[in-house]
Amino acid sequence: MAKKEDTDKCCLCGRGESPARPLLTGRNGSVCAECVQQAYNLCKDAGFVADANSRNKKNMPDKWAIDFETLPRPTEIKSFLDQYVIGQDDAKRYLSVAVYNHYKRLLQPARSDDEVEIEKSNIILVGRTGTGKTLLARTIAKMLKVPFAIVDATVLTEAGYVGEDVESLLVRLLQATDYDVEAAQRGIVFIDEIDKIARKGDNPSITRDVSGEGVQQGLLKLLEGSVVNVPPQGGRKHPEQKMISIDTKNILFICGGAFEGIERKIAMRLNTHVVGYNNDAAAQVDRENLLQYIAPQDLRSFGLIPEIIGRLPILTHLEPLDRDALRRILTEPRNSIIRQYEKLFDIDGVKLTFDDEVLDYVVDMAIQYKLGARGLRSIVETIMIDAMYEVPASGVKKMHITRQYAAEKFERTSRLHIS
Ligand code: ADP
Repeated sequence: MAKKEDTDKCCLCGRGESPARPLLTGRNGSVCAECVQQAYNLCKDAGFVADANSRNKKNMPDKWAIDFETLPRPTEIKSFLDQYVIGQDDAKRYLSVAVYNHYKRLLQPARSDDEVEIEKSNIILVGRTGTGKTLLARTIAKMLKVPFAIVDATVLTEAGYVGEDVESLLVRLLQATDYDVEAAQRGIVFIDEIDKIARKGDNPSITRDVSGEGVQQGLLKLLEGSVVNVPPQGGRKHPEQKMISIDTKNILFICGGAFEGIERKIAMRLNTHVVGYNNDAAAQVDRENLLQYIAPQDLRSFGLIPEIIGRLPILTHLEPLDRDALRRILTEPRNSIIRQYEKLFDIDGVKLTFDDEVLDYVVDMAIQYKLGARGLRSIVETIMIDAMYEVPASGVKKMHITRQYAAEKFERTSRLHIS
């Protein structure tokens, strides 16, 4: 048993107890609150304890929790996607299955007697820009309520060059979870413009290319699942910066890219395959939409290294959006552009309606100016800007947009901005 004089002073700093410095007394001595705090800081800095924030998070209900019973089945995921994304049936089915399998795998209890280990299946979506790749990934994340981040592969460069290290791709995910590492490790990262890190040309270059194979090698590490050190604020890794370790084993990577010109590679492959023994097959090829035949070897011809392709086993394509699809995008999705404007006016107590011809006009303009689906919103915005300015204070209760009104507003502004 400790003597009284051993316990009424801090055994580390030797000071006695005070109201600001209570003593924590044990069997053989005491420690004061200040020394306890210092010891805590020391351990925290050395990475032995989680900081107070993440400790508090542990006690909070896990808002990212996901369990097998509530995990939506592939058909349910597809139905959800149908509410927000027009067309793209193939991509939706592939994605629904891949995402379902991913979380099923992740929810599997680790069993040592079971030799079957389900491997991770990252996804690659190939399709022209503005056809819904990001929208698909974002909508899935919204449905599953899992952490989600969109990152751009174009910022990546090989270590030692100006640009960002591949690890920085995970910073966004960390930020999305408010630095809850465990939640981030179960999230989805959408890597846009993956085609931009393709090796230029079919031959490995003799000189090092800054945004080519080296970056792909770096990315490989993330895709296949490994523990990486992430600079919490992003940017370059500095020796003095404290890193956060993230295991990417259970992070699902969805990559997207336009792969401009890949149709040529697909056409070449299809011809070489069919010439000689089955010319009928060549005749059946739909030359207008070659992307539907995309295969892993086309990605290779485009300049992705085989290892990366191997780590993106689910390959699917998005259809180009035709006039009909653009027209449907305007009105059909749950938060379609037209519904959004109706709601904006409704909040002011104004009933907004459009002539059908207005919608056709908007689609015509999107096609004429080659703006695709992305342009639909800015065209409607241009048409509606004056009304949105004047109507709220005008006392008007109804607003109907005709084709003539739309054309007048759009042509006046587009003369200034587009062209
Ligand atoms: P990308 O294929 O380049 O990733 P996005 O998914 O970012 O294209 O699409 C841009 C915008 O165009 C979306 O935010 C959405 O408003 C609209 N859009 C594109 N494709 C579709 C689609 N298939 N269904 C509904 N909206 C779409």
